[in-house]
Amino acid sequence: RFITFEGGEGAGKSTQISFLAAALEAQGLPVLQTREPGGSPGAEEIRGLLVRGEAGRWDGVSETLLLYAARRNHLQTVILPALEQGRWVLCDRFNDSTLAYQGYGRGLAMDWLDSLYQAVSEGLQPDLTLYIDVPVEVGLARAGRRGDDENRFEGLADSFHLKIRRGFQEIVRNNPDRCATIDGMGSVDEIRRVILETVLSRLPH
Ligand code: C5P
Repeated sequence: RFITFEGGEGAGKSTQISFLAAALEAQGLPVLQTREPGGSPGAEEIRGLLVRGEAGRWDGVSETLLLYAARRNHLQTVILPALEQGRWVLCDRFNDSTLAYQGYGRGLAMDWLDSLYQAVSEGLQPDLTLYIDVPVEVGLARAGRRGDDENRFEGLADSFHLKIRRGFQEIVRNNPDRCATIDGMGSVDEIRRVILETVLSRLPH
C-alpha cells in the first residue's frame, strides 16, 4: 500500500503522518514513513541543493528536473523495494506537490510534468492521497511559528500559496478515486481520527 500526504505550508502533514504510522504499526502492519523532496540518501542530497543556497538559484525548469531526479532515486531505492516487501509506505509529499508548486504555482506546463512523472515512475500511482486542506493564511502563520527556514526554497508571496491551494483542490476533484480531502482546521486529535477512518475504509486490509 502506498499512501501520500499532501498540503501547503503548515497543513500539519508531518504530525499526522507520524500518527498514522503509529496507528498502523499498532495493528501489526509493517510501515515505512518517508518524505519528499528527499527520502533516500541521494534524494536528500538533491533536497539540500533545492532548499539551501540563495533564493532564485534554480529556475522553474531546473528545480523541476532536480525534483524528478530525486523522486526517481527515492522510488528506486526506497519506495519500490518497500512496496515489494509488502510494507505500507507513507510519504510526506509526492508528485501532487510538484503539480501544485511547479505546475499550478510556478506555471510550468502540466503535460511536461505528467510526462516526466511517467518517465520516472513507470506509471506507479499512490493507492490513496490524503490532502490536508487549510486556508493559506492559517498555514503560513503555523509554518512561520515553527520558524523552520531550512524548510523553504525561497520567500514566496501569499498569492503563490493561493495558486497552490487551488491547485491541490483541483487535483483532488480530478482524481476522486485516489484522493481524499481532510479538513485541516479541526483539532489534531479529530484530524488523526478522520485520517485513520479514511484509510481503513478506503484501503481495507
Ligand atoms: O513539506 P516540507 O515543508 O518539508 O517541504 C519543504 C519545502 O519545499 C516547502 O516549503 C515547499 O515550499 C517546498 N516545495 C516546493 N516544491 C515542491 C515540494 C516542496 O517548493 N514540489
